[in-house]
Amino acid sequence: MATKITTEKGFKVIKCSIVEIMKLGGIGICDMCNTAPLDGYYIAVLNQWVCEDCYNDWLRRARPYKEDEPIEDKNFTRTWNLLNL
Ligand SMILES: [Zn+2]
Repeated sequence: MATKITTEKGFKVIKCSIVEIMKLGGIGICDMCNTAPLDGYYIAVLNQWVCEDCYNDWLRRARPYKEDEPIEDKNFTRTWNLLNL
């Protein structure tokens, strides 16, 4: 079951399973380390689906940029709607 997450830094993320991401045409492997987690995180601003370790790493390092927000919103809305068809 996909769930919405808004991080402390304001990033929009969707936690969802490998089955769900594959339904959207994903190949079900982490875009950062190439493992195949059962659950992953879709990071809208990057348009990437990653495992929990990579997600936590990214979250520590990431900085939000105002100019990325329109793309982030677009990616997030598109993916969320597809997951909930
Ligand atoms: Zn990973």
